[in-house]
Amino acid sequence: MLPKLDSLSRSQSAGEDGAWRGELVRAYTHPQDLLDALRLDHGLLPAAIAAARHFRLLVPRGFAALMTPGDPQDPLLRQVLPLGEELAAYPGFGLDPVGDLAAARAPGLLQKYQGRALLIATAACAVHCRYCFRRHFPYASEATLSDRAAAALARLAQSPEVREVILSGGDPLMLGDAALADLIERLAAIPHLRRLRLHTRLPIVLPSRVTTALCGLLSGSRLTTVLVVHANHPRELGAAARDALARLRRAGLPLLNQGVLLRGVNDDVDTLAELSEALFAAGVLPYYLHLLDRVAGAGHFEVPEAEAVDLVRTLRARLPGYLVPRLVREEPGALSKIPVGG
Ligand SMILES: *Cc1c(COP(=O)(O)O)cnc(C)c1O
Ligand code: SF4
Repeated sequence: MLPKLDSLSRSQSAGEDGAWRGELVRAYTHPQDLLDALRLDHGLLPAAIAAARHFRLLVPRGFAALMTPGDPQDPLLRQVLPLGEELAAYPGFGLDPVGDLAAARAPGLLQKYQGRALLIATAACAVHCRYCFRRHFPYASEATLSDRAAAALARLAQSPEVREVILSGGDPLMLGDAALADLIERLAAIPHLRRLRLHTRLPIVLPSRVTTALCGLLSGSRLTTVLVVHANHPRELGAAARDALARLRRAGLPLLNQGVLLRGVNDDVDTLAELSEALFAAGVLPYYLHLLDRVAGAGHFEVPEAEAVDLVRTLRARLPGYLVPRLVREEPGALSKIPVGG
């Protein structure tokens, strides 16, 4: 089992960390509120309520404001609105599609690849993406909170081959500043660690999380720190997200993006090209474009591999090489993400 290290998320009180906590509290959690805000037909409601029972709806208001009212096919909405399709069984789609359970090295610590280990800093996210491969993840555990954090850090301290720690989750920026500072300090005290990476969607979906204090905290570590954000469609990069990314860039943090190729969201060359252009204009380089992980409930998002390869080939003919993300697939037991289509 892979419990979150929620010993590190004890500073949950509002106020201390600024406006973003309040925005989280005000996020949409009921399908009806989201549909009403977007003036969408209530015919979508029964399925949304049924699907949300398996993985609840969560959408910050600022992210919803980037959606087009009245359009049930809006590519941002499609990423977050529970649909009846989630309840359909698709062959080959399971509960642990990427072999996370087998990769646990300590509670909350996954190692699949040489030299880097992934720490599940918290189970919490600011948005619930319907295609998320961790939607069924067994985060809960009976171990005491500080024991879990201590076990993961102890294991890292005994793993001299690990050079880079990836904070993931959930979303590691859901930790408050104090908890995050504490975690980074404890990681920096492990002499063989060189780099710290954060996999986070918050600069995109909750840009107010990127405070001056956070930028200082991330850029002030002995560890070279890199942020990998997650955007799938150019419209996700609204003014607030672009400002947040600019603050991170001014703090000297390298910024990369990983996206997921999703049916009905970004499965056309124009959208992918615009996404790359918009990311670069915001100081972010495209890193990975993931084929969908085959997690139960996400079958309707799948783009067949042959089509994905064609899309990226066309993209490569259209954009400079540095704006073309690497198309990859994750396979349980593999030594790296698998490049698709060459
Ligand atoms: C994806 C992943 C990484 C990072 O892989 P990179 O190719 O270095 O980006 C590391 N650890 C785990 C467990 C992962 O799933
Ligand atoms: S932000 Fe990431 S971890 Fe959270 S639900 Fe979305 S894809 Fe999953």
